Amino acid sequence: MDDGRTRHYASLQEAVAAVFGNGARIVQAERVFGGDINQAYRLTLADGRRVFLKANRKENAPFFAAEAAGLAAIAGTGEIGTPQVFGSGEDCGELGGAFLMMEFLEKKKPGAGFWEAFGRQLARMHQAGTEGLAPGGKFGFLEDNFIGAGRQVNTPHGSWVSFFRDCRLRPQLRQAARYLGSRERQGAERLLERLDDILEEPVRPSLLHGDLWSGNFLAGADGRAWLIDPAAYVGHAEADLAMTELFGGFPQRFYDAYREEFPVREGYPRRREVYNLYHLLNHLNLFGSAYLAAVKGIIQEFAP
Ligand code: ADP
Repeated sequence: MDDGRTRHYASLQEAVAAVFGNGARIVQAERVFGGDINQAYRLTLADGRRVFLKANRKENAPFFAAEAAGLAAIAGTGEIGTPQVFGSGEDCGELGGAFLMMEFLEKKKPGAGFWEAFGRQLARMHQAGTEGLAPGGKFGFLEDNFIGAGRQVNTPHGSWVSFFRDCRLRPQLRQAARYLGSRERQGAERLLERLDDILEEPVRPSLLHGDLWSGNFLAGADGRAWLIDPAAYVGHAEADLAMTELFGGFPQRFYDAYREEFPVREGYPRRREVYNLYHLLNHLNLFGSAYLAAVKGIIQEFAP
């Protein structure tokens, strides 16, 4: 299968030969740790070149297709680095499953100016054109994708608030019903009904990374930030900013540089809570009740 964007290969060796030339072969595969879903490897080819490989069971091939589509959309803005995707495939031999092969990013500790540049680059990515990324609507994406291991619905909508209600909060709330009592379920319904008063339409649609926490960018050898592992879609830029703040936040100079490039409208701190309710619900659904108190707190705040 070839999805027209990422070449698909019947084995890892076939992919390596097609991308790097017939004589190319893997001489070393070292595990890279730090991800929570896939097995990751740093491959070394006979000519010394390094390649990054993610592998998982065959059934997980759709995750890799979605990741490749998200990386391609971000790369299409030309504003911020993402690893070049070389190809994907299913290797029934030694690897025994699906794989995604991409550029290996050498890492460096963030140096002076890193956070300011990152803030400006993200702001520019959020201002890039989104034509063709949410066909038939303004918000959404080319296809559904994944948020961590959870399914993310991206059906295009003309309104951001409707999109966030129908494709973000509602599906997660439905799944989380087993954790919520009837009071919270009713509160959540009221929150959905009031969403037009709480959120607002953006000045322009933005391509979002979609899962922008500190594990999903790298400081590259060029001293710049590189985005990895997106759950990309077209939405309100504030939703990306909110996610950066969910687990501790980035340094203030990142946000200052961002705002200089792309101002954030008044009232954002309140809207941030609702944007992050989506991620907290997803965490509740994936990892269990450690996230329940935070979810209940936000529902209670907006629908007492
Ligand atoms: P998962 O899909 O399992 O969440 P990640 O995308 O988080 O995996 O990647 C796993 C590890 O590999 C992390 O430590 C991450 O920093 C590193 N990594 C991810 N992409 C690259 C890349 N292109 N080059 C080098 N290291 C990478």
